[in-house]
Amino acid sequence: MNRPIRQAAVIGSGIMGSGIAAHLANAGIPCLLLDVVPGAVNEEEAAKGWGLDHPAVRSRLATAAIAKLKKTNPAPLYDEDFASRITPGNVEDHLERIADADWIIEVVVERLDVKRGLLERIEKFRRPGTVVSSNTSGISVNAMAEGRGEEFRRHFMGTHFFNPPRYMKLLEIIPGRDTDPALVSRMKAFCENVLGKGVVIAKDTPNFVANRIGTYGLLVTLKEMAEKGYTVEEVDAVTGPAMGRPKSATFRTLDLVGLDTFVHVADNVRDHVEGAEERAAFETPDALKELVARGWLGEKSGQGFYRKI
Ligand code: NAD
Repeated sequence: MNRPIRQAAVIGSGIMGSGIAAHLANAGIPCLLLDVVPGAVNEEEAAKGWGLDHPAVRSRLATAAIAKLKKTNPAPLYDEDFASRITPGNVEDHLERIADADWIIEVVVERLDVKRGLLERIEKFRRPGTVVSSNTSGISVNAMAEGRGEEFRRHFMGTHFFNPPRYMKLLEIIPGRDTDPALVSRMKAFCENVLGKGVVIAKDTPNFVANRIGTYGLLVTLKEMAEKGYTVEEVDAVTGPAMGRPKSATFRTLDLVGLDTFVHVADNVRDHVEGAEERAAFETPDALKELVARGWLGEKSGQGFYRKI
């Protein structure tokens, strides 16, 4: 692809998709932000007599994400107009608009089946030559590209941003088997020069580099806690503020990441590594699964290891 990146489309307006769209928009790149159509109207919409066919309801998830971004990224963190460069929509009514994008980023739930289904739909609407990437935390790029055409696969790669995208400098770029090496170099240069990221090119191994090591460390911490009886507060004290690292306490970070996402990420390594011992090392504790089943997903649901006030 020799086209410069002038417009982007981000699909999935959750924690990472909204943050990536904000980062692109702040760099001056207009961005389409799409999510699914909600399953039901909320109280406010019902009071206005709106149904699920109302355009504002259909694009509510992306619209709400942009409103939240405005609140959480006041100037001078991002420039005052960054949010006006993000256009909300939904994948049912607006997916064809991705034809205008030079870079399409998939940022939906960490499940191979969902990502594959979406990439199939993206292939129908994208212009030839458009870069498509996935923000997966660790699902195989080659597995995601399976079933897609040769031209698509040449333009497809993983671009793994870290949470929150505005602060975290690291970005892993994961080329697939068929990704054009010249395109990987151009994307690396773009992400470094325009988005201010520090890019590491990673191999397509389960969870790539950062999450393979990081997930292992978190799971060991959880197991040690259960065995030795450490509390959440004790672990956060020695891995966070008390150690002079205000933003990196273990459980605060897990709440920010999303407990459901963390379980998907750990399961992905467990299901793709060789040998019983390594598989056992990536087994998630039942207690964590119970929190997820209860709907305690972290900051996004208002309750994780901590309650959001
Ligand atoms: P999230 O749960 O906050 O958001 C996911 C969004 O995708 C939701 O708004 C959901 O409605 C939407 N969605 C689901 N299926 C869709 C579809 N078919 N079309 C359009 N939208 C759809 O999740 P997240 O934390 O933003 O994670 C998104 C991706 O980024 C995952 O692959 C995750 O592994 C990866 N990631 C997450 C983090 C993190 O710290 N949370 C960090 C790096 C990478």
